[in-house]
Amino acid sequence: MSTPSQEDYLEAIWQLIQQKGYARAADIADYLGISRASVSRMIRKLHENGQLTYERYRGLNLTEAGRYRGQRLFERHQALSRFLEVIGFDDRVQVLKTVEGIEHFFGPEELQRIERFVQFMREHPEVQLTWQSWQRGHPVEKARG
Ligand code: ZN
Repeated sequence: MSTPSQEDYLEAIWQLIQQKGYARAADIADYLGISRASVSRMIRKLHENGQLTYERYRGLNLTEAGRYRGQRLFERHQALSRFLEVIGFDDRVQVLKTVEGIEHFFGPEELQRIERFVQFMREHPEVQLTWQSWQRGHPVEKARG
């Protein structure tokens, strides 16, 4: 990932807390693939913005606002992953990389439209099958690397 944004941090922290019950700077650094120094800087910033609390021995926690925002960001990430899968991406790493690249450009309306599309496909497996077989007949040129 290129330099992670505040949104990436919030999403990561929210998810780490869901999974492990806590999020230490080292966990966040691993999760985002960055150095601990940049994590400390961003933790300070998120603290100033009222998204998280930090206590030396108890570690960090999201505030109500941070939790709300983190969950929204996580849901956006999930919706975009499902969308990419429906349109034919089948490589998990590629899906993840693509979502991380595009997620910041999607606002609530764009997201709702994508979620509706994914939901429609789920509720109409016959349409999804037709779409999948059509896709097989119209292969895309795979990205290299
Ligand atoms: Zn994400």
